[in-house]
Amino acid sequence: MKILITGGAGFIGSNFVRYLVKNYPKYEIINYDKLTYAGNLENLKDIENYPNYKFIRGDVCNFEFLCYILKDIDAIIHFAAESHVDNSYGNSLIFTKSNAYGTHVLLEAARKNNIKKIIHVSTDEVYGDILEGSFKETDKLEPNNPYSASKAAAEMIVRSYYQTYKIPVIMTRGNNVFGPFQYPEKIIPRFVTNLLENKKIPLHGDGSPIRTYIHTEDLCRALDIVFHKGVIGETYNIGTQDEISNLDLTKKILRKMGKDESYIEFVHDRLFNDKRYSIDLSKIISLGWKQECSFDEGLTKTIEWYKDNKTWWEPLK
Ligand code: NAD
Repeated sequence: MKILITGGAGFIGSNFVRYLVKNYPKYEIINYDKLTYAGNLENLKDIENYPNYKFIRGDVCNFEFLCYILKDIDAIIHFAAESHVDNSYGNSLIFTKSNAYGTHVLLEAARKNNIKKIIHVSTDEVYGDILEGSFKETDKLEPNNPYSASKAAAEMIVRSYYQTYKIPVIMTRGNNVFGPFQYPEKIIPRFVTNLLENKKIPLHGDGSPIRTYIHTEDLCRALDIVFHKGVIGETYNIGTQDEISNLDLTKKILRKMGKDESYIEFVHDRLFNDKRYSIDLSKIISLGWKQECSFDEGLTKTIEWYKDNKTWWEPLK
């Protein structure tokens, strides 16, 4: 089986490319990535010479090139996106272009090439925030920032291609992911790397928004299960119940790194900040997935990884 992974040089994509290359030596994995500032081939240095791995530089908005590349591809796992939410408050047009239009182009090229399976990787942010309870896959989408709106727009196009053309697509909506190779712009790597440099850590607003985290190892296993056992046309929430406010997360990181709270620097909040995300996990659990890495264990491992991999993150700051 030949699988095209879009956005495979990014944070989650590179973790999943490595997972597939190592666990499925019979699959041919083709990483298709434009290499924006968030895409980094250094993430895949350890596997770049594996016989079942290949990299192609390309944009998901490039229809002709994709049609050419997809000629002998069996399946697609679509991660490519502008994903750094903070940037979407500045120039959000590129978010709509890569995330919504890019997904449309990819689907059209996939349709023309009779791709057998497509996993569209979306986010729990498409639901908007929820003060109590958890969103099920059937709940309506109410995105609140330009990033999540562009991901929700992409989902609408995916849905229409499934309904209209019956293209074989499955969607996932994941909660916040953390682990190795996360660009030091997101809260965990930013705070950890700042503290390793003995710098203050900028906490948005009062730190009250609540987020839920899943470690890359658990996410990769969930994506594997969705790819192999998921039902075409269905959507699967992927995540954990490890909810934590940004302030409590900050304090936890400080404690684990032996620093006191004087390192916290309260900065302006986002223009709009969802208060809480939460997703119901019964559907992914019913496919046979379960969390194996607790938040505490994952956070300790992640801090250790950033300690041991300064040469990876220092050029990115
Ligand atoms: P990332 O920003 O680290 O990686 C995105 C990758 O896509 C980069 O390698 C980038 O070069 C590439 N890319 C961007 N635009 C492209 C284009 N037009 N053509 C080809 N490649 C392009 O993002 P990530 O955190 O790894 O997220 C991957 C996917 O998972 C995204 O679709 C994101 O919406 C989704 N997601 C992320 C999280 C999270 O917590 N990080 C949570 C839920 C869902």
